[in-house]
Amino acid sequence: MTSLIQTINNTKTATVEIAEPEIQPHTRSSRGDTANDWLCAWCLNRVASEKDRCFHEGESEFSFKNPQGIRFTIFIFSRTIGCRQTGVPTLEHTWFPGHAWSYCVCDRCRMHLGWCYTGPTEFVGLIRDRISRAALIMS
Ligand SMILES: [Zn+2]
Repeated sequence: MTSLIQTINNTKTATVEIAEPEIQPHTRSSRGDTANDWLCAWCLNRVASEKDRCFHEGESEFSFKNPQGIRFTIFIFSRTIGCRQTGVPTLEHTWFPGHAWSYCVCDRCRMHLGWCYTGPTEFVGLIRDRISRAALIMS
């Protein structure tokens, strides 16, 4: 007779301690949807809201290579909260035909987070690796 010994998989829950940023409490929304916000990966400034995610030709996520061959994956938003547009919009090497791009930087730490696009439609593409979901940080 075969006895089946089942090993209990004791999954350890890793608790990540994150230093409290010197922002808050005035940025804490009372609407309770801050968990859906996107933060600058460097300074944790609230830069965009998930509810502002938008679609361009049916997609909300794009992956492109720049002329230097570096691949970027971006999420697009109809607007941002804590970013600023910088530079003169140009159509050169644009990823979205007819849409001129300019840089989009974090309003607080000025890190380059993505690009603002203007043209037939206007939206902002934020680089996936440069933004963090608030829920992952606050939990
Ligand atoms: Zn920042």
